[in-house]
Amino acid sequence: MQIHELSAQELSQKIQSKEVSAAEVAKHFLERAQNLNFKLNAFISFNEEVLKEAEKIDLQIARGNKIGPLAGVPLGVKDMFCTQGIRTTAGSRILENFVPPYDSTVVRKLKEAGAIVLGKLNQDEFAMGSSGETSYFGVCKNPWDLSKTPGGSSGGSAAAQAAGLAALCLGTDTGGSIRQPASFCGVYGIKPTYGRVSRYGIVSYASSLDQAGPVTRTVSDAALALEVISGKDALDMTSSDQSVPEFHKNLNPSLHGKRIAVLKEYENSDGLTPDIVNAYEKAIEFLRGEGATVEQISCPHAIHGVSVYYLVATSEASSNLSRYDGVKYGHRAQFENISSTSLKDFYSSTRGEGFGPEVKRRIMLGTYCLASGYYEAYYKKASQVRRIIRDEFLVALQGFDALVSPVTSTTAFDIGKKISDPVKMYMNDIFTVCTNLAGLPGASVPVGKDRAGLPIGIQVQSLPFCEQSVLDVSYALELAFKNSVGAPHV
Ligand code: GLN
Repeated sequence: MQIHELSAQELSQKIQSKEVSAAEVAKHFLERAQNLNFKLNAFISFNEEVLKEAEKIDLQIARGNKIGPLAGVPLGVKDMFCTQGIRTTAGSRILENFVPPYDSTVVRKLKEAGAIVLGKLNQDEFAMGSSGETSYFGVCKNPWDLSKTPGGSSGGSAAAQAAGLAALCLGTDTGGSIRQPASFCGVYGIKPTYGRVSRYGIVSYASSLDQAGPVTRTVSDAALALEVISGKDALDMTSSDQSVPEFHKNLNPSLHGKRIAVLKEYENSDGLTPDIVNAYEKAIEFLRGEGATVEQISCPHAIHGVSVYYLVATSEASSNLSRYDGVKYGHRAQFENISSTSLKDFYSSTRGEGFGPEVKRRIMLGTYCLASGYYEAYYKKASQVRRIIRDEFLVALQGFDALVSPVTSTTAFDIGKKISDPVKMYMNDIFTVCTNLAGLPGASVPVGKDRAGLPIGIQVQSLPFCEQSVLDVSYALELAFKNSVGAPHV
């Protein structure tokens, strides 16, 4: 087995037992990632210090110092996470040259556990998109088929993980951005409960929905990484002080006696392809066969999830993105490109140049929703329906270990197919947005492939702070279906 085929934990064990050095591992991944990046465009930037940092880990091991569980693991970080000394673009021109002076809490915790930042991963601009195509740095390709998108917005994270360009990756998920690309690229991805993981130092898109999570090759790696990054953070008021279980140690694939829910509103949904229905039914059959009971539940307002999401998320985005004004940091329009000396023209030139079309569309939509006169009809109404959706999920899921559903209606689609039709693109999110609106944890587990050989993921969700249930059911599915997915040849 090659180094890049090992799980993050296997890799760290080999490094800690000195079978291979962290420096060799870092060199292997760096060369592989740089060579394949011409094909995949998964990385926006590389960490120039990666080899030096790996040598430091080797030195600590040689000295017998106490070392973290992810010692020497090369980490791919979505470009939404601030990384000290490494530019953090959020996939946008407006942050093209922004080098943060500090690490996001998630990155800091992973570094403390011994992981080494290998580089920053491509994504949709400000995490707005489902295909990676809104990135200012060009579209990332799906390693299973280079003519397809890897999904989005954490497309670079899923593509890099699937192609073995990093041993562990980080994504963010506001409406499906970890789960949909994980499904498109045949890797595992989990979005934790809102509040489980600190958002400090993550570029804000829609603050009441954003969560960070791992994208991994195995469920066990995700359990370990999640354990490392979870917990209360004094720097994020919305982070929860719920105790963090030992997700990784507790991992248990037994399905016997488990109660699994399926959602009425997600079945027979328009546009679900037969291959996905088939994979989903097979997964359900497997769960039943292993001793779980499967019962249908209903959350009638779930059908409004996409509409509600695109009102709430754009409203929050319009407010969050107002900070990019060219004054404090980020792109600033050149003096000769500004039509007058007014501050308004300075702002509009800077923002006009710095943001791409999808981000502008969302800022306009969100600003409209929040404007006096429209607020009641749009933002407020959407917030009310969001609350109903949340309450329906919380009530319907009582007593269940997990909710299982498709992640997406289709497998990875062609680059260019949906980018000119925003509504079609937004419909990608029908099965994933309610998870964020309700603040639930949710994951995508690879369970099979379609007839074209493209991966299919199944979504596993649970009640808030029940990540262990999500991981356990995911683990059972992984053990049963892993061999039917495999890895892409790149
Ligand atoms: N595809 C959704 C959007 O475009 C979700 C993005 C996300 O989760 N960051 O907003």
